[in-house]
Amino acid sequence: MRTYQINSEGYYGEFGGAYIPEILHRCVEELRANYRRVLDSDDFKTEFDSLLRDYVGRPSPLYLARRLSERYGCTLYLKREDLNHTGAHKINNAIGQILLARRMGKRRIIAETGAGQHGVATATVCALMDMECIIYMGKTDVDRQHVNVERMKMLGAEVRPVTAGNMTLKDATNEAIRDWCRHPADTYYVIGSTVGPHPYPDMVARLQSVISREIKAQLLEHEGRDYPDYLMACVGGGSNAAGTIFHYLDDERVHIVLAEAGGKGTDTGLSAATIRLGRPGIIHGARTLVMQDEDGQITEPYSISAGLDYPGVGPLHANLAATRRAQVLAVTDDEALRAAYELTRLEGIIPALESAHALGALSKVHFRPSDIVVLTVSGRGDKDIETYLNNLPTTLQA
Ligand SMILES: *Cc1c(COP(=O)(O)O)cnc(C)c1O
Repeated sequence: MRTYQINSEGYYGEFGGAYIPEILHRCVEELRANYRRVLDSDDFKTEFDSLLRDYVGRPSPLYLARRLSERYGCTLYLKREDLNHTGAHKINNAIGQILLARRMGKRRIIAETGAGQHGVATATVCALMDMECIIYMGKTDVDRQHVNVERMKMLGAEVRPVTAGNMTLKDATNEAIRDWCRHPADTYYVIGSTVGPHPYPDMVARLQSVISREIKAQLLEHEGRDYPDYLMACVGGGSNAAGTIFHYLDDERVHIVLAEAGGKGTDTGLSAATIRLGRPGIIHGARTLVMQDEDGQITEPYSISAGLDYPGVGPLHANLAATRRAQVLAVTDDEALRAAYELTRLEGIIPALESAHALGALSKVHFRPSDIVVLTVSGRGDKDIETYLNNLPTTLQA
């Protein structure tokens, strides 16, 4: 049978692999050799599952959104990752990787962050588990995500502003990799999405796969069958989408719809629609689709949503697009803003701007009345209130 899962060499089709400096070979190889054994062990599963339940608050609800269902002519469920502790799906991954780091005898945790959500999740789990925590963050992001910087500091993390390049996520990631090269023995690098060298994309997908495991059980309870007709999620690096689709990847009864950030429009030069605009290349240790110019220089992405503003994408998702297993839609800033206001007014749920891109894809798909659709709300909108108020969609301005 055809599979969209990773192969034994760490590739999804032509995408993935581990393209890393010599000095990191041992660390990445140590991780590769251990992650499946640890993640599949009873001891890890027991501790991970009990933290997901009692600390994160899982299972997250599968909520039947009646008014939104009526609006789009289908049965629409929302998978409520916004209700997790710290407000998004990222905590699932942070807990899993830091439990793994402890089992590998590492005491020092480093991470990169863009908007600060992964930094906050990592700092939170480091506080819980009494680990040293250093977060690399571009200086531009430090300035525009001040509240998250203060949260990380309150949690006891050291935030190191990065002044190289455009001073955003890509530069913070480079700096975190440099730190790892300097401290390969005692340091564990927590990557926040399904990106980076093998085994990170597969490891993060497995840690987030609790989302689709729960969807199966919850759909069975609500609908008497354990699969939907459509799964929908937004894609930055791809971790909430990977978690949403993991247990359905090879079940072709299920349509997969991925929403990437169109920015001001994919032909404006102000976009982060990597799958639409990217070409194969190497970024942060993986071969995947990369936004780049004719000389192979990575081009600066743009999105109103900091969490989707990345010039690469997970190799799993690049392959799903290349093989047409997934339908990938670019959703613009304005479409996302309108979708966020719509969810807020119809269901009383203020979504994260990232999640609003998944909601913005609803109007681009033609559903049949009998279709069951599950859309993941990856996070809550508290962090985005200022952006929402400063960018009222044109339809609401009158
Ligand atoms: C970080 C983030 C994203 C994008 O990351 P993925 O790895 O693509 O899931 C999406 N939604 C929220 C709320 C985020 O914080």
